[in-house]
Amino acid sequence: MPELPEVETIRLGLSKKIIGLKITKIQLLSPKSFLGNPNLAEGKKVLKIVRFAKMLGIELSGDLTLLFHLKMTGQLIYDDGNRLIGGHPTPDMRDSMPNAHTRVVFSFSDDRSYVSPKAKLKVPATAGFLYFNDQRRFGWVKVIPSVILSEAKDLKNLGPEPLQKEFTWEILKQNLLRHKSQPVKVAIMDQSVISGVGNIYASEACFEAKLDPRKKVKDLTEEEFKSLHQGIITALQNGIKHGGSSRAHFVDPEGKRGYYLDFAKVYMKEGRKCPRCGGVVTKITQAGRGTYFCPKCQK
Ligand SMILES: [Zn+2]
Repeated sequence: MPELPEVETIRLGLSKKIIGLKITKIQLLSPKSFLGNPNLAEGKKVLKIVRFAKMLGIELSGDLTLLFHLKMTGQLIYDDGNRLIGGHPTPDMRDSMPNAHTRVVFSFSDDRSYVSPKAKLKVPATAGFLYFNDQRRFGWVKVIPSVILSEAKDLKNLGPEPLQKEFTWEILKQNLLRHKSQPVKVAIMDQSVISGVGNIYASEACFEAKLDPRKKVKDLTEEEFKSLHQGIITALQNGIKHGGSSRAHFVDPEGKRGYYLDFAKVYMKEGRKCPRCGGVVTKITQAGRGTYFCPKCQK
C-alpha cells in the first residue's frame, strides 16, 4: 500500500509535470472510482499539488480540488512521452496504457504552447495523460470545492503531518496517550494520532527509535517519546530519499517483481541481520499486520 513517502514522491514528480496544464477531458472507465461530476473539472487549470497524509490533492482553477486516495493497489501514471510512475508497483506499469486496471484517464493540454512565437518559450511542456489505475478498486478520486476541503470527512480527523514543524514530540505524546494500552507500533498507525504512517513506516520508525514495537504507550518514558518522534521523521525521510517503496522494484532491468523495499532496515527483512547490532530481524503479528523488529537492540 502506498504510504506517505510514496505519495510525496508522486506529488514531487507530478508537480514538475502538470502545474500550469489544463485538464481537457476526464474519461471514466470505471465510474465507481470517481466521486462527483467530472465535467466540473474539465477545462480547469492545475494550480498546485498538495498531499494530506496518504492522499494527493490536485488543486484546480475554479476553486476545485481533485482528491486521490490510492488505498491498497492504486497507481498514478503520467505519460507525456516520458512516463512518471507512482503508487502500488506492478510488473505492467511500463506497458501501454490504458490497461485492464485503468479506472480514470485525465487528458491535459498546454495552453502555454499557444503563446506568441516571439515569446521566449524554450521548450513548451508536452501535454499528456494521467492514468489512475486500481486493480482492487478500493481507491478513489473525488472532486471537491477547495474551500471546504479541510472540512471534508476524509481530511478533518487527520492528526498532524509528521514532516511539518507543528509535529512536536509533545503533540505526539499527547495524541498517543489516547491509546494508553496499545502497543506503540499499532498506536502510531492511527491516522488521527499522526497522518500518513502505515504499516511499513511504523516498523521502520520503531527501529529508528530503538523501541520494542510491543511496548505499551503508557510505559513509554519521556526520552522514548522523543526518540519515537525523531524515529518517525527519520523513517519517512529515508523513504522519500529513496523515492518511496514503489520505485526500487523497477531498477531490475528484466522487469521482474523484486524486493521493492531494499532500502528498508527491518520491514520484510525477517531472518536477516539487523543493520545496527547484528541481531536477527524478527516478524510478529500485531492487530493483524506484520511487524518487523530486532529484539536485540529494540527495547
Ligand atoms: Zn538490532
